[in-house]
Parts: sequence; structure tokens; C-alpha cells
Amino acid sequence: MSAPKRFFVDKIERETLLTGEEYSHAKNVLRLGEGDEIVLLDGSGKEYDAIVCRSMKGALACNVLGERAGDKESKTPVKLLVGLLKGDKTELVVQKATELGVCEIGIFSSRYSAAYINDNKIERFRKVAKEAAKQCLRSRVPQVSYHETLADALNSCGGYENKLFACEFANESEADLRTLKGSAALVVGSEGGFTEEEFAKARALGFAGVSLGRRILRAETAAIAFTGIVTYLLGDLG
Ligand code: SAH
Repeated sequence: MSAPKRFFVDKIERETLLTGEEYSHAKNVLRLGEGDEIVLLDGSGKEYDAIVCRSMKGALACNVLGERAGDKESKTPVKLLVGLLKGDKTELVVQKATELGVCEIGIFSSRYSAAYINDNKIERFRKVAKEAAKQCLRSRVPQVSYHETLADALNSCGGYENKLFACEFANESEADLRTLKGSAALVVGSEGGFTEEEFAKARALGFAGVSLGRRILRAETAAIAFTGIVTYLLGDLG
């Protein structure tokens, strides 16, 4: 039997109602009903074993049987900032970064980013993060935010111990990644890359330029690879 399906709810009560999209998915796609075991998540990091006890119009009532701490979250916080990408590339990056365990994702517009953004897209990114979190058994959904400027995005990284800026025109890395320890904020540009001024601004704010090698990677490759490298070095993929 496959592992019990996971659903996010706002609040856990002894009898918790599954409503809205989570309900539709449970009822219409997974065909869950009375007696089925599920796991409820409230984004706090805990997991709750529950059993569907009643099917109602627009809701499934679930009895919560027990709780435990989720054990899939990274010990060291990693935040990924990525330039807004074209088509569905941003969604791809949000999905993969969630699987790799980041706790925050920031999407930003910058001088050379050409993609279009609206509130629906931001909601869509949040939904992608939630689905990915469920699929990879996380108990928290990374927070997804949008920054209108690169400066805003960079300024949102105050609490991070390491600030790393993947720069396609940096010849060598200013930080020794092999000895990396502690929380990390990573920045990757959009298809158009960064300007010299943007890099200078980031350095003034304490970001170290990082080279990802001699080849120019596509933005989505750079974002996913950089996140994977850093989470590995911080001991989260072992
Ligand atoms: N249009 C640019 C390339 C942008 S690549 C050009 O033609 O030069 C998109 C982003 O991926 C970059 O802004 C950077 O953050 C990252 N990136 C790609 N290759 C990289 C490399 N070799 N080193 C560091 N960052 C890289």
C-alpha cells in the first residue's frame, strides 16, 4: 500500500475539516472516503495522522489520531532568490528548490529580466511549492515572495549568515563553498543575467560572487544546481 496522502490545512482540531482545493483533490482525484488514513499538515513542521470519518458536501471530516514532528526539513535554512523566468521555468525552479529543501523562495525582477508577472502567477508559484512539499513529504511549504526590484530581494536576506551571488561574469568565487557552514541566501539571475552595477550593489550588501564554472548555464540549471550544491555542502543531502 502506498504511503497515506498528505493534505495541508489552516488549523488542526480533533475533528479537522478538509475543504477547498485539498478537499476536491482528496475526494475527486484520489477518491478518498470514510475509513481512509491520511496525514494532515498545518505548516508548523508537525505531521498529524488522521482518518476520514465523514464525507459531507464540500468537506471531508477527519479524526486526528496523533501527532509527531516531521523529520524531512533541513536543519540549516537556505533561501533561493531567482530572477523571474519566461514561460513555466520559474515554476520548474520553485518545484525543484522545494524538493531540495529550501525554506524561502524569492522571485525578483531585474534590469535584464523580460518575463511578465501578475498576482495569479505568484499564487501559482505558491501552489507549485505546496504540491512539491506534499510530494516530497515535507511538513512545511517554503514561503514564496515576489520582489519588484533586485535591491528589495537582496535586502530581504538580512538574517542569513552566508550571502552568495551566482555571477556569470565572476572569474572565480569570492567564497570558499567547501567550508560553507550556516544559513545561506543564494541569488541567481534570469535568462538575461546581471549587469555589472547589479553585481556591485550585491557586493556592497555583503554578497560574495560565486562562479558556477566556465560554462554559462541556463538560469534554471544554475538555480537548481546551485541549490543542490549548497544543500549538499550544508549536509542536508547526505
Ligand atoms: N545572459 C547571460 C547569461 C545568464 S545565465 C549571458 O549571456 O552571459 C542566468 C543566470 O545563471 C546568471 O545571471 C547567473 O546567476 C547564473 N549563471 C549561469 N552560469 C553561471 C556561471 N558559470 N557562474 C555563475 N553563475 C552562472
